[in-house]
Amino acid sequence: KYYEPLQVGFQSANSGGKIPLGLKRKGLRIVVTGGAGFVGSHLVDRLIARGDSVIVVDNFFTGRKENVMHHFKNPRFELIRHDVVEPLLLEVDQIYHLACPASPVHYKHNPVKTIKTNVVGTLNMLGLAKRVGARFLLTSTSEVYGDPLQHPQVETYWGNVNPIGVRSCYDEGKRTAETLAMDYHRGAGVEVRIARIFNTYGPRMCIDDGRVVSNFVAQALRKEPMTVYGDGKQTRSFQFVSDLENNFCFEWGALPTSNAENMGAGQPVIGFELSACEYLARLSECSLYALWCRAFSIKITYSDDYCMIVEGLMRLMEGEHVGPFNLGNPGEFTMLELAQVVQETIDPNARIEFKPNTEDDPHKRKPDITKAKDLLGWEPKIPLRKGLPMMVSDFRQRIFGDHKEEGT
Ligand code: NAD
Ligand code: UDP
Ligand code: UDP
Repeated sequence: KYYEPLQVGFQSANSGGKIPLGLKRKGLRIVVTGGAGFVGSHLVDRLIARGDSVIVVDNFFTGRKENVMHHFKNPRFELIRHDVVEPLLLEVDQIYHLACPASPVHYKHNPVKTIKTNVVGTLNMLGLAKRVGARFLLTSTSEVYGDPLQHPQVETYWGNVNPIGVRSCYDEGKRTAETLAMDYHRGAGVEVRIARIFNTYGPRMCIDDGRVVSNFVAQALRKEPMTVYGDGKQTRSFQFVSDLENNFCFEWGALPTSNAENMGAGQPVIGFELSACEYLARLSECSLYALWCRAFSIKITYSDDYCMIVEGLMRLMEGEHVGPFNLGNPGEFTMLELAQVVQETIDPNARIEFKPNTEDDPHKRKPDITKAKDLLGWEPKIPLRKGLPMMVSDFRQRIFGDHKEEGT
């Protein structure tokens, strides 16, 4: 390692992710490519809150500075405008490689750029991982299964992908990225991790990014008809991204002691806003926090209930298993059922408009997550009807600039 080493290496692998209260934890130096995007920015929030130093590498094709600007004053945060298709020299402990447009509209916009990002970009980040001995996590996708002939999809299924279709830049690109990761693992000893993420929704999605949940929500809020492609009978399984404000909850009246067992016990009672939560998370790095808890007789608990995809990625990175792992919510909906849930959540009178479907649209998709449950102890717990309102609040605020309650 060429940089001044951080005092202590990564801790959560040894302590099960639970940092004893009263101990100052020294974090890792972590690169998140695509960290200004939808999933990446939620991951960055969690890593920063955990005490790590994070370098976001992003070319802002689909990402936004607004997604990470709440970290700008934090000395543990850096933002580099960089295209991963170009080589990059950094000294880090871990690389979360997310950089790649995920919405079909975006990845089809410049397909050659998309496949370069997946192939050359992934090659560069693996070269970086090899040079500095960093652990590398690839966010692959359920699209590697193509239009699946096996349902639900298990990791051992090799997929049914059109190599010359309009989606190939993405699905074949990700398949090649997985191949590269495995070849660097076998050939160069790089510690790799592969996640196959299924359709994810939540706050901070680009409002007009063309994916179905963001489209329906924005359309219903704007009183425009929801555009259902084809007959609307195709299925997807939607998982909620993760919301930092929901990760920390309070239980009143219990006195914490300064050991790890106090983290994770108890029933969450009250959720806090992001800012307060971040503040507490930062405080939790030092004994001041334990004192504060004692003074106010408050016990902080870490609620797994709300740790969705981001938690899955972090568990995968910290664990010993290479993968690939399906990370998704097995709850399966047709697009017509999704439109119905959006109607229930936003506006019962929201209209539906049928449009011709896009080429090569997979007919069904649903993850088998047995492997993630067994080996990572991970499963999503937020059903669509619970996650959607959290996304709607965010979209409402960004579209109208206010914070009206749902249904008003
Ligand atoms: P997103 O489009 O919001 O984020 C992608 C980020 O990568 C953006 O910030 C974008 O600016 C950046 N980026 C794109 N090309 C780049 C390049 N060449 N160099 C540097 N930065 C670049 O998408 P997301 O939903 O946050 O997806 C993140 C990752 O998760 C992607 O790899 C995607 O394939 C994967 N994934 C997401 C989903 C999902 O439903 N969200 C599903 C499966 C897989
Ligand atoms: N690379 C990079 N940063 C590094 C090390 C490598 O961007 O710190 C790039 C490098 O430019 C190359 C790719 O990663 O294009 C693969 O690197 P590797 O060393 O595996 O292969 P080689 O350079 O021998 O082709
Ligand atoms: N879809 C739709 N209306 C839209 C956008 C998408 O009916 O406005 C459908 C699309 O045909 C696909 C599903 O929703 O069957 C999911 O599409 P999305 O682009 O969100 O992600 P994908 O899973 O196809 O990558």
